[in-house]
Amino acid sequence: MKKTILRDYAKLLARKGANVQKGQEVMIFAELDQPEFIKILVEECYKAGASKVSVEWSYQPLTKLHVRYQKEKVLSKVEEWEIAKIKHRVDTLPALIYVESEDPDGLKGVNQKKLSKCSGIRRGVFKPYRDMMDNKYQWCIAAAPSKAWAKKVFPNERTSTAVEKLWEAILHTSRAEGDGIGNWEEHNQDLKRRYEYLNSLGITELHYKSANGTDLRVGLLPESRFMGGCDTLLGSDVEYNANIPSEEVFTAPDRNRADGVVYASMPLSYQGSLIENFWFRLEGGKIVEAHAEKGEELLNSILDTDEGARYLGECALVPYDSPIRNSGILFYNTLFDENAACHFAFGEGYTSCIEGFENRTLEEMREMGLNDSLVHVDFMIGTADLSITAKTADGKDVPIFTNGNWAF
Ligand code: ZN
Ligand code: ZN
Repeated sequence: MKKTILRDYAKLLARKGANVQKGQEVMIFAELDQPEFIKILVEECYKAGASKVSVEWSYQPLTKLHVRYQKEKVLSKVEEWEIAKIKHRVDTLPALIYVESEDPDGLKGVNQKKLSKCSGIRRGVFKPYRDMMDNKYQWCIAAAPSKAWAKKVFPNERTSTAVEKLWEAILHTSRAEGDGIGNWEEHNQDLKRRYEYLNSLGITELHYKSANGTDLRVGLLPESRFMGGCDTLLGSDVEYNANIPSEEVFTAPDRNRADGVVYASMPLSYQGSLIENFWFRLEGGKIVEAHAEKGEELLNSILDTDEGARYLGECALVPYDSPIRNSGILFYNTLFDENAACHFAFGEGYTSCIEGFENRTLEEMREMGLNDSLVHVDFMIGTADLSITAKTADGKDVPIFTNGNWAF
């Protein structure tokens, strides 16, 4: 990909994604396969005013070795200095940028149970610190193509062609072509118009129906509010886009009200493994049955992470007619695939989806029915014939989606 185009993309991530502030520290998380792009991104962060930019590299083959050779006790341990490091993050609130480029099959063959158990324990130790930083720092997840990922998406192309094609697909679906910053201003406005309308309806329940067998009713809290596009930092007017791309308008449901059956419409790529053709049965909000043609054991091990993993934390609305779906590409990466279709997430519900969250305590919101878990896993359920009807507090039925797309 041309350097000038990559520079514009890096600028979009630094300024519209993380919206790096003058004098702020920035941390970038990336795979070892992206040295050139990360160098450009670091420079764009400095140009945006960053005081210091650090990069944490990871490398999937090393992760595989660690999982294989470390005892569970070692693999799940959080060292003193790691605590000091995250405490420093709580104090300094750096902006975080994650550049995803992993091979979707890069962790094939690892002991998934061991890995998800140990990373679950580690997440549990970090969670109180993460909660303290919630809505107080900017973050952005975006992508860059590695060779292995590109070959997975375009298996019939030569490697160099595949990488180029995946760059094009990433830039196109990320609305980064041409005036990326301008495109995102417009896109944020459009998403805002939609969630403001949804919030005006007073929705108590969403009813999902699709010919593939999905028939699910999900309750919303009186305090659930829809949002989308950019977020705003607590107590300031700093806006940032946490996901590039992002097509969704989403909210957090009532964890105790979901009944029926829901079929996934796309595979789920989780920590380097694929879960395919799966479905859930829910009762009183809880996933009481989970089946998958491929990866059922892994799916159940994620659901067994903790109690909250079996309850829903997110309902996201994405039109079937979205740039990602229209590209016809399966990215094998949730950042993209989740924006191709309506989805749910099981696990943690986001506090910012609760009306007046700024003035409520975390415990209060959990008490209300906002789900809590160490995991938050999106899975796609949108189809070309999906209909969603909202029940409102004043007893009306309002169509939200017909034939997979916005009904308004
Ligand atoms: Zn989502
Ligand atoms: Zn999500």
